[in-house]
Amino acid sequence: MRRFDIFERDNFTCIYCGYSAFDDKAELHGDHVVPVALKGKNVASNMATACWRCNGEKRDRSLKQTEDALSLVAKRNIEQGIDPTEQYYPSRKPPHEPVSDIQKIRNKTLVRSLKRYRELGLYS
Ligand SMILES: [Zn+2]
Repeated sequence: MRRFDIFERDNFTCIYCGYSAFDDKAELHGDHVVPVALKGKNVASNMATACWRCNGEKRDRSLKQTEDALSLVAKRNIEQGIDPTEQYYPSRKPPHEPVSDIQKIRNKTLVRSLKRYRELGLYS
């Protein structure tokens, strides 16, 4: 999954403070809920959308905030049929794999959302 998949799963809203790219013009980042430095994995179950401020303040994040974010991420992955072990590829394409029909449908949705997001000047 790419950064944009995570933004879309989280409805373009920071998982920590609720700031939205649409309503609040939040600058979004792909956030490792458990930081890589603390052996957080690079997979869907550990990735969340965070605004610039919350992403920058991750050192100050409480254990409770981390646990809440992880459980919300787990819930959304289930609801949206996202495999929690799916690898996160922030800046490069995943290795070549056969694309499933479900993935094709998701890709179409992503393209639509990306277009809308670009129209609002929130994603380049
Ligand atoms: Zn935030």
